[in-house]
Amino acid sequence: MAEVPEVETLARDLCALVVGRRLSGARAPLPEAVRFPEPAAFGALVAGRRVEDANRRAKWLLCDLEGGVTLAMHMMLHGTLRLLPTGAPTDAQTMVVFGLDGGEELHLRDRKGFARVAAGPAAEVAARLRLDALGPELLDPAFDAAGLAARLVGRRGVLKTTLVDQKTLAGLGNRDADESLWEARIDPRRKAGSLTLDEIARLLAGARAVVEEGIALRGTMTDLRGVRGGARQDRKIYGHAGEPCPRCGTLIARTFLGQLITHYCPGCQV
Ligand SMILES: [Zn+2]
Repeated sequence: MAEVPEVETLARDLCALVVGRRLSGARAPLPEAVRFPEPAAFGALVAGRRVEDANRRAKWLLCDLEGGVTLAMHMMLHGTLRLLPTGAPTDAQTMVVFGLDGGEELHLRDRKGFARVAAGPAAEVAARLRLDALGPELLDPAFDAAGLAARLVGRRGVLKTTLVDQKTLAGLGNRDADESLWEARIDPRRKAGSLTLDEIARLLAGARAVVEEGIALRGTMTDLRGVRGGARQDRKIYGHAGEPCPRCGTLIARTFLGQLITHYCPGCQV
């Protein structure tokens, strides 16, 4: 699943392998992948521009192109990026192909067809993709428990669904939120505004540990060269419903909160 560790792995690979190179253009075998501008204009807009930087904001991959243009890519749940030789075959999963100098192409692939790209002047991309409305980055060292407390205070929604809302906090996907709440020993079904400062500090520490380990292992999906990361989708409790909790032995429960499948331990998450 493409959550922050997987997207961060791609961002780091883009920095190492693509930044400094020039795009020769882009074509979209699956035109619905291009949110804006329309596909032909999208290809013309990125063509000839050097990639100056690559970074991540929440689950968006953002490439700064020469001339103040931002190229944004979202992997959704299953999207991947691959660096392949020019002319590499495409198939039904190939959504967008970017030409690069040096005899290579960047292929955006998604077996579900949900991945999306967009490009435009940086301010326009930020406004249209609502990047300014995103919450603080989980891994930003300047973001602390008091900062998270300020974003949860008075919130009546369910804790789990509030945490995966990237406007609250940018950095937790569904899988990583379940693992983080287990690490912090907090019940995902609680009201978001009900946590004590001590619980919030545990939650922040647990979430950072989960996401940092995922990044260190290069996520659960393939990188730009097609090498699969060493992180596990089913780490401690995600995907382990009905099995004993690794901490207390109670059987792990699975439920739906909002529309999100959620795993938790009824024994030690309170
Ligand atoms: Zn337990």
